[in-house]
Amino acid sequence: MSDSTTHDLVLLGSKLEVAAVCRETADAVSITFEVPSDLHAAFDHRAGQFITVAVPSERVPHVARCYSLSSPPGRGTTITVKRIEGGYASEWLTRNAEQGVWLQVLPPSGSFTVPDPGADVLLAAAGSGITPVMSILRWMMESGDGRVALFYANRDRESTIFAAELERMAREHPDRFSVFHWFEEERGLPSAEAISQWADELHEGDVWTCGPAPFMDVVAAAVIPNRHLHREEYRSLTNDPFEPEPPVSGTDTPGDEDAANVEVELDGKTHRLAWPRKKNLVEVLLEHGIEAPHACREGWCGSCTVHVDKGEVTMAATEGLDPDDQSDGYVLGCQALPTTDDLKVTFD
Ligand SMILES: Cc1cc2nc3c(=O)[nH]c(=O)nc-3n(C[C@H](O)[C@H](O)[C@H](O)COP(=O)(O)OP(=O)(O)OC[C@H]3O[C@@H](n4cnc5c(N)ncnc54)[C@H](O)[C@@H]3O)c2cc1C
Repeated sequence: MSDSTTHDLVLLGSKLEVAAVCRETADAVSITFEVPSDLHAAFDHRAGQFITVAVPSERVPHVARCYSLSSPPGRGTTITVKRIEGGYASEWLTRNAEQGVWLQVLPPSGSFTVPDPGADVLLAAAGSGITPVMSILRWMMESGDGRVALFYANRDRESTIFAAELERMAREHPDRFSVFHWFEEERGLPSAEAISQWADELHEGDVWTCGPAPFMDVVAAAVIPNRHLHREEYRSLTNDPFEPEPPVSGTDTPGDEDAANVEVELDGKTHRLAWPRKKNLVEVLLEHGIEAPHACREGWCGSCTVHVDKGEVTMAATEGLDPDDQSDGYVLGCQALPTTDDLKVTFD
């Protein structure tokens, strides 16, 4: 198969070729993309981030889905997808992704990241929630000296993604890494008591958790309030972040619209724009042909997190924003509306 995106519309993002596919378990595969050298900077990622993939579909041109990178920074662009019964994109990817398939992809984004590989951390994953956690773990073992403990829940041994590599890491770094496997087949669903017992015997690190929402709720009940909790929630996108916004006509002048002025730092470039007060920042940037990071555009994925250096904004939804980041001046570009006249914002 060569080119799998069949429609002619010029989409946002880049077409990447699948370089390799590795079967991890009966229903999970890792898919590695070839990133050409002119896209290396755009596709550099931080451990824990995700990319957004346009998955070909017979019903609509494509369906857009987010997939976390399991590869650590500097070691390629690999996602790990677990098939969900009746799920459109995961069924397609686990069946059809193979070397030579081309897919439209939006660059890495997201804020489920550990700031320092030297920190002590707790990781709690269930099922395919291991993917961003694996990227964090691989990165920390390679680049830092922090201690990492992983609680990892699965249905059974056979469905455990990365089982062999985790065992090898635990043997190679006995003083820095430990993994506690929980098999539901043997012990039922993980309980808050079991997780808090596991966490209590460990160092005082913050917690990064990814898995089904009920699992993360149990983790939250077990570790809060002692430790700061970072969650990555998997959902299917309902919008299409690959569709470009219709361009604004003429220049950057707002015409009759009431607008603020904004200076935007993005990918080493400075853009000076009018920011109509009823449009969010992502919308304004896309209308001007500027590819701001974005995915869900509903305020939950955190892709468009941006720092407000000057001025103020208001947001209708803040779910995708870590409370600490919010107090440090970060906002969600897809929700931000200007409330002052002159603003400056910077995308990390
Ligand atoms: C930030 C982020 C990172 C992610 N990372 C990963 C990752 O690393 N690995 C991974 O495997 N997934 C990941 N996901 C989840 C992924 O994006 C998809 O949500 C997942 O693959 C399911 O998509 P799907 O198209 O296969 O299923 P969908 O078609 O979205 O369906 C999901 C479920 O809903 C059911 N369903 C669908 N439509 C209906 C309907 N109309 N009525 C009733 N039921 C319905 C389906 O049967 C299925 O059980 C991530 C999500 C996010 C937001």
